[in-house]
Amino acid sequence: MSMEGYVYLVGAGPGDLGLLTIKAKECLEKADVILYDRLINPLLLEWTKPECEHIYCGKLPKRHIVRQEAINEKLIEYGKQGKVVVRLKGGDPSVFGRVGEEANALDEAGVPYEIIPGITAGIGAATYAGIPVTHREHGASFAVVTGHDKSEDGQPLIDWKALATGIDTIAFYMGVKNLEYISSQLVRHGKPLHTPVVLIQWGTLGGQQTVEGTLETIADRVRQSTLTNPAITLVGEVASLRTQPSWFERKSLFGEQLLFARTSSQSSSIAKELTTEGAEVFEFPRYSTERVESPALDVTRYEDILFLQPESVSAFFKWLRDEKIDLRNCRARFYVRSKKSQEAVEQHGCNVSNLEERNECVNFLIIGEEQWSKKEIELTETYGKHDFLVSHREVLITSCERTCERLNEEGRLKTMVFPSAESVKTVTKSFLSLGWTPEDMSKERTVICFGPTSKKAAVEAGYKVAATLDTPSKEALIEQLKLFRNQEVIRR
Ligand code: SAH
Repeated sequence: MSMEGYVYLVGAGPGDLGLLTIKAKECLEKADVILYDRLINPLLLEWTKPECEHIYCGKLPKRHIVRQEAINEKLIEYGKQGKVVVRLKGGDPSVFGRVGEEANALDEAGVPYEIIPGITAGIGAATYAGIPVTHREHGASFAVVTGHDKSEDGQPLIDWKALATGIDTIAFYMGVKNLEYISSQLVRHGKPLHTPVVLIQWGTLGGQQTVEGTLETIADRVRQSTLTNPAITLVGEVASLRTQPSWFERKSLFGEQLLFARTSSQSSSIAKELTTEGAEVFEFPRYSTERVESPALDVTRYEDILFLQPESVSAFFKWLRDEKIDLRNCRARFYVRSKKSQEAVEQHGCNVSNLEERNECVNFLIIGEEQWSKKEIELTETYGKHDFLVSHREVLITSCERTCERLNEEGRLKTMVFPSAESVKTVTKSFLSLGWTPEDMSKERTVICFGPTSKKAAVEAGYKVAATLDTPSKEALIEQLKLFRNQEVIRR
């Protein structure tokens, strides 16, 4: 491999994680350093490798010109250091994304780069609001227009006449502040007063909100609403095609924004399910799994083996392969404590025995994550005399705390779900390192626990628990969330 760095100027799409391109995802996964904008979904940062450096460009020097130059310099600097650099921008990098300036700077510095397009907000937000930007009967042309520019008063210098008379659908970006000006200019130059207009804020995300009106009424309606930037202003007949709510807003968990606590690098199948139903889910904190070398211990001499986690199963079978031990020489009965571990054992063509019916035996081995080696007394009390082997180590990746911070700033941590007592501990530790107490975090947020033990841990830590599930299942969690929606406990 050459030492030459490479810069990727990448579009992150409008917000919904699933709208990222495959290329963009590959870039995130291989980035050594990522420079990201204010508008990208912070959850994307969780897809980078653990050691990737995150640089928030929203915090670079305030004055506009300085900021852009500072970004260009950083791109060049990291590129020259031989790093894989990702410049991540909201939507499409070429649509009001200043990608031209960055590409130019890289060209001049001789740093190689690629540009990866993304779904621009004007199309993405419109689609998620149920509006096609073109339509055979309602819109034959579509324009992407800035609603704000660098002129002194910020009012964009555009050929209003051409726009008002020649274009059917117009998407204004950055246009909330100038809405009154924009609508009056369009009317003055020939667009009918009754032309439908929709503003879409936080399009494709859980916070998606819309305000509808016409060129005549929209400025007033928006003023009376809570709607602010980032929003797309869509003007044109197509806006009348919006069904209310849209296909996206109709999803059963649309608008739910959850922090799902976890204790390992495994991502929860429940979290995935919630996302499919329209919720935004942040699994927190983040870990990476470090493997442990094969132990100098004959694992074939055991009668019983208990795997504490699914990773312990894969580690065990890897040890066998590394040591060239034939599985048929291993006469142990296998025990597990979770469905995931059971599946892992079965994938290797073995069956598990029932842990509750286990009789004590002399040669008993427990394999688990490193932390468990400190809980010898507890393990002995529960399972009897045994040997213990560390299968892997879960290492906390602290950069996820920045993601947590950004989501909180955007008001996107509305519900916190604790599946276990352990998860209360890990999350609280991270919160405290961000300077947040459980008491603060319970304010205006909903805490849901999976059962009595997690509830006890949460209450002891200082959280106000809103609900405890009868059964620790995804069905029960979804039921509970829907119940809250009906009671309007969760605000939008
Ligand atoms: N390159 C971006 C646009 C950057 S300009 C793109 O292609 O989408 C920033 C403007 O984009 C915001 O002021 C807002 O008008 C719009 N925008 C970005 N994300 C948005 C979203 N999720 N919902 C609505 N508007 C959005």
